[in-house]
Amino acid sequence: MNERYRAAMVLAGTGDAIGYKNGEWEFCHSGTAIFSELQSLGGLEKIKVKPPKWIVSDDTVMLLATGSALCKYSDQADREKLFSEIAQHYKDCMKDMGGRAPGATCMSAVHKLKPHLKGGYYIPFNPRGGGCGAAMRSMCIGLRYPRPEQLKDLVAVSIESGRMTHHHPTGYLGSLASALFTAFSIQGKPLREWGKCLLDTLPLALTYVQETGQAVEENKKEWYYFRDAWTKYLESRSLLEGTSDPVFPEPYDFKERDAFYKKISFSGWGGASGHDAPMIAYDALLGANDDWAELCKRAMFHGGDSDSTGVIAACCYGAMHGFHGVPEGNHKFIEYRDQLVKQADRLYDLAYPGQQSVTEPVGASQGDTLEDRDIGLPSDSQKADCDSSHGDSQDARAELKDTPEGSSSVSESV
Ligand SMILES: [Mg+2]
Repeated sequence: MNERYRAAMVLAGTGDAIGYKNGEWEFCHSGTAIFSELQSLGGLEKIKVKPPKWIVSDDTVMLLATGSALCKYSDQADREKLFSEIAQHYKDCMKDMGGRAPGATCMSAVHKLKPHLKGGYYIPFNPRGGGCGAAMRSMCIGLRYPRPEQLKDLVAVSIESGRMTHHHPTGYLGSLASALFTAFSIQGKPLREWGKCLLDTLPLALTYVQETGQAVEENKKEWYYFRDAWTKYLESRSLLEGTSDPVFPEPYDFKERDAFYKKISFSGWGGASGHDAPMIAYDALLGANDDWAELCKRAMFHGGDSDSTGVIAACCYGAMHGFHGVPEGNHKFIEYRDQLVKQADRLYDLAYPGQQSVTEPVGASQGDTLEDRDIGLPSDSQKADCDSSHGDSQDARAELKDTPEGSSSVSESV
C-alpha cells in the first residue's frame, strides 16, 4: 500500500510535468500535434522527464504545499489550525512559481489570505472563481483521509483548502472531486462507481458549506453548475447509476477527444475549470484502466489544460496501480521527487497509524529534501532556464487558465 502512496505523489508530478512540457503542451490546442511531437522525441518510453526541459508546474508546487501543511499539522482536534497552516503554505509556495504558469485566480487570492488572524483563511465569494486551480492540488487530501468513515474530514478539508483560492462551488467542488477520487483509488472502489458517488457526496458538501456560514446564499445560487455538468457527463457514458461499464463513442481518438473535452468545458478550454479537470481525468482513467501509455494519451496529450488533467489522472493511477507499466524515465528524475516520496510516506503514516511505511532510500532525484527545502525553491540556474523558455504569449494564456467560471450565464456550454 505504501508503494501506491509513493506512486500517487510521484506520478502526480510526472502527469503534471508531461502535460505541461514547460508550457508548450499545456498551451497547445491539438492532441494530435502533441502526440506527433512526442513520437519525434522517441515516444513515452524514451523521454526523460527531468528539469530543465520538463519541470513541474504550479499544480505540483501547490500539491506539495497542501501536503506539507497536512503533514505538518496532523492534530485532528483543531481544524482551524490546519486551515491556517494550509493558507500559510499557499502564500509561501507562490515564491516558487517562476516558469510554472500559475493561475491568475490563485495568485490574486493568496494576497487576501491572512493565516495569522482567526478565520484569516476565508476569502470573499468570487463569481469568477470556477477555475481548476483548487482541483489540481487536492489529491493528497484523499491520501490523508482515504477511508469511507473519514469522508466528513475529506469534505471539510478539500472544500476549505479549495476555497482559499477558489471561493466558488465550481472551483472548490473540483477540489472535493480530486480528493475523493484519490481516496477511491486507495480504497479500490470500481471506477464505474466514482461519478455516482461524487454526486451522492454533494449534499454532504452543501451541508458543510451551510454550517460554516460563509457566503451561503451565493454558494447555493451557483451550486447547480457542477452538479448538472457531472450529471450530463455521466449520462453520456451510461454511468449515472454506476452499475455498468462506461460507453465510449467509436472512434474516440485524439481528434474526437479534443472535441469532447472542449464540449464539456466552460469556455472552450477542456480541463481548465473545477468541474472538467477531474472529469477529464476520470474519463481518461475509465478508458485506460491499467495502461499507462493510454492514460497519457487521454489525460495529457490533448488540446485542453493538459497538466491539470494529467496531475489528477496520474495521481489516481499511481494510487491504484503503483508504478505498473510506467517507464522509469517518466518518473525517476522528476523534479522534487524526494519531497513527493517523503510526503507520501508521511501521509501514509498519518492515514494508517501503526503500520510502518517502507524505509528504503527514496531513489534518484534532484537532491532536495523535505527538511532543507520545505517549500521547494528551484535553484537559480534552474529557474533561469525555466524563465527563458517562456514567452509572453504563454504568460498571457496562463492568465486565462483560471478565468473559466461556473456562473449561470454560460451554463449551456456543458
Ligand atoms: Mg500548471
